[in-house]
Amino acid sequence: MRLLVTGGAGYVGSNVVWALHDRGDDVVVYDNLRQGHREALPPDVRLIEAELGDDAALDAALGDGHWDGVLHFAALSLVGESMQRPFHYLTENAGLGIRLIDSCVRHGVGRFILSSTAALFGNAENTPITEKTRIDPGSPYGESKLMIERALHWADRIHGLRYACLRYFNAAGADPEGRSGEDHRPETHLIPLVIDAALGLRPEIVVFGDDYPTPDGTCIRDYVHVSDLAQAHLAALARIEAGSVTYNLGSGSGHSVLEVIRSVERVSGRQVPMRIVERRAGDPAVLVASSSLIREETGWTPRFGQLDDIVATALAWRKSHPNGYGNAG
Ligand code: UDP
Repeated sequence: MRLLVTGGAGYVGSNVVWALHDRGDDVVVYDNLRQGHREALPPDVRLIEAELGDDAALDAALGDGHWDGVLHFAALSLVGESMQRPFHYLTENAGLGIRLIDSCVRHGVGRFILSSTAALFGNAENTPITEKTRIDPGSPYGESKLMIERALHWADRIHGLRYACLRYFNAAGADPEGRSGEDHRPETHLIPLVIDAALGLRPEIVVFGDDYPTPDGTCIRDYVHVSDLAQAHLAALARIEAGSVTYNLGSGSGHSVLEVIRSVERVSGRQVPMRIVERRAGDPAVLVASSSLIREETGWTPRFGQLDDIVATALAWRKSHPNGYGNAG
């Protein structure tokens, strides 16, 4: 397949690019490199360094030959930041995402895979969260992804665009071969921050609230390995031949912030200095996925079912890249 991947130099995007590349697809990445890294990509993959909002660049890319599909990862992705800058998130994520879909329709692209999110569910009353759980985004970030999902619904209904919305829970870990890992600047995600605290690369981890209605009072999340997520994109690309789909993607088990800290301590053999602080705005108490639908419909099964195995790949990547990309140790 010939595929254009927006945001393909980012954390999840680059792992998907590697998986597509491994199976021999012709992949072109479209990324502004604000969060992405050239070094995260296979060296022979073409990179178009451009903004999603640059109509001329996007038009040129989509008009350059036939595309079997577009995979859309380029987005702002921080729940907390979206609570401070709601309209930035709504215009950048939803606005540009919807314009991308419009461009795909105009250029005759037949398949579209959206990197969507568990943040659509805000404070779900029941867990695990299925595709039938009531949608109620707890943040402008979640809302922005919902708007793109809705635009895809109309693109299919009116123009026949086949799509998959993949609602990731918490992407974590690194490529087991060490080719791509997590390097956000600044880093805000729990697992890489706890690992850095264990390795002495930062003084401590601050835990955002221990007064949630969970067994140990800290938030529970469903951590799913980024290589498993990548395989789910391949499965979804095949599945949409039979019609558009929307899937929740997690490992099916929830872990609290304190459990993550203990896992990093076990795997690294080091103690993690920690401090409890106030809750972070926009954080739901529990987000755990039911991934039964994608398992049943595509046969997808996560390879990394255990949190310690996910943490081990993230730790190995960080040890080999203590300063992130560009400064491999
Ligand atoms: N978290 C934390 N301290 C940090 C970063 C995250 O306690 O320095 C918590 C956060 O409140 C959430 C969980 O860890 O409950 C996962 O947060 P992350 O930002 O990794 O992903 P999110 O669930 O927001 O997508």
